Amino acid sequence: MYKYELHCHTSEVSACAHVPAEKVVEYYASQNYTGIFITDHFVCGRGIPGGLEWEKWIDKFCSGYETAKSAGDKTGLKVFFGFEYTCYSNNGTDFLIYGLGKEWLKSHPEIMDMGLRQGLEFMMCEGAFIVHAHPYRESSYIEMIRLLPRHIHAVEVKNANRDDTENGAAEMYSKYYGLYRLAGTDNHQGGQQKRFCGIKTELEINNPSNLRKIAESGNYTLFDEMR
Ligand SMILES: [Zn+2]
Ligand SMILES: [Zn+2]
Repeated sequence: MYKYELHCHTSEVSACAHVPAEKVVEYYASQNYTGIFITDHFVCGRGIPGGLEWEKWIDKFCSGYETAKSAGDKTGLKVFFGFEYTCYSNNGTDFLIYGLGKEWLKSHPEIMDMGLRQGLEFMMCEGAFIVHAHPYRESSYIEMIRLLPRHIHAVEVKNANRDDTENGAAEMYSKYYGLYRLAGTDNHQGGQQKRFCGIKTELEINNPSNLRKIAESGNYTLFDEMR
């Protein structure tokens, strides 16, 4: 049985995260995870941070993942790339994007100027596997709960940092529309985190696109564990 974290941040890239990539990897390796996806925040619609050139910014954006990947290679933990896409001009609503990597981002700076629907449609056409992260989260940065059931493949129905009301509504949403159900911790604090969500499966992930195959196969279970 393989165990995966699907939603995790590094302090190198996500301003809201508290733990650097190496420590994150150290922790997950110590807990016998098979692999983790690093999904740092990728915010469109408010320009490139720090006035960097696009390619330089993408290099910087991928640095949390790359540091985690090197640390993972040493410990045996598999580390995969993903990102949490948010359209700033829409005031919140977050999506986990899997299967598009650094080179894809470098080739598509136009993503920064696309609105939410257009951005999701474009990434879906480009082969992304798209999961709506905590769709019923209520927070000051999310102007309103927005659902785009035709623009996603899956719903994060268990998020370790959301309560039963928010996760329960996400579960109903996924069922009503027949969307795949997935789970992730949304870990911003490495080993300080107390509750963990993710998937267990008999199928091994060798590259980020495999996550879609696992969702389609149904050969996985969601876990929700306290440490
Ligand atoms: Zn965050
Ligand atoms: Zn997140």
